Amino acid sequence: MTMEALARRRVEVLGVPVDAIDMGEALRRADWMVQSGPMASCILAVNPEKVMSVPRDPWLWQFVRQANLLIPDGIGVVWAARFLRGAVSSRVPGADLMQELCALAERRGYPIFLYGAKEEVSEAAAARLQERFPGLKIAGRANGYVPEGEMDALVDRINASGTKILFVALGSPRQERWIAEHRSRLQVKVIQGIGGTLDTIAGTVKRAPRIWQRMNLEWLYRLLSDPRRLARQVALPVFAGRVVLDRMGLGAHRDETRTVRAALRADARRRKLGEARVKDAVALRGSAKMAGGELHGDGPHGIPAGVLGGAGPHPSSP
Ligand code: UDP
Repeated sequence: MTMEALARRRVEVLGVPVDAIDMGEALRRADWMVQSGPMASCILAVNPEKVMSVPRDPWLWQFVRQANLLIPDGIGVVWAARFLRGAVSSRVPGADLMQELCALAERRGYPIFLYGAKEEVSEAAAARLQERFPGLKIAGRANGYVPEGEMDALVDRINASGTKILFVALGSPRQERWIAEHRSRLQVKVIQGIGGTLDTIAGTVKRAPRIWQRMNLEWLYRLLSDPRRLARQVALPVFAGRVVLDRMGLGAHRDETRTVRAALRADARRRKLGEARVKDAVALRGSAKMAGGELHGDGPHGIPAGVLGGAGPHPSSP
């Protein structure tokens, strides 16, 4: 599929873009990305929960827009894309795409890397994948609890491993922030955000039986097997209601430009406030010196720690 054809298939559901494609197209696209695409092409999943949560975070919203492939992970999104935009696609669950990508990687000899989840989950998932795809080259893996100070070393390790496809399993939006922060240094071809998929492969979290999946009832199975997810699943009826309202022309979903502008304004305000605090601190230090006293700050430029707190943008903002 050409880039233009894919661009034509990108539609918006309540302001969140999604590519109206099926598994075959998603795979062809991913294969093209590995062979001819730009470095670090990003694949993310879109489901009703994300459609509801992403616009609440302007940074994440922008990041999602820039993804190279946005798969319709939930049946709700497939339905909404059809209902609102007439876009025909079928569900491409992120967990299924990940395993299809492993099968593709095995066939083509693309090394993969698994980053995320608890150590025992990561280890078990790697073993299960190796069993399922004996020819798959798992170039490396790391659990999702690498200390911040070791992040550069992790990126170096991924780069040195010759990985073509990197799976990031930190949950959302942690994985998106990690990808954004390290993408420019990652010498891999494709990065897929896979949330809790390694837990399902390792068997620590059960996926719905095939029959439930075929009936598009995976969400109900998850809800019944883990009622703590209720708060998250409450988003589903709200999502359905908003889609219907949108179709009736009564949609009141967030205006992206307004939301992003508001976030940038808030950021600038925070920064100004920070600068004012710095000026105050410097003045304070000056008068303390003049009075013969001394401030023993441990922050930058001798400014007491904490004075600069919260002054800058989000550390992982691009
Ligand atoms: N996780 C991680 N590091 C963290 C926090 C979470 O590796 O600092 C992992 C966690 O062990 C789990 C996954 O991220 O494997 C979160 O899965 P969840 O189902 O919440 O993600 P979702 O698919 O809903 O985005």
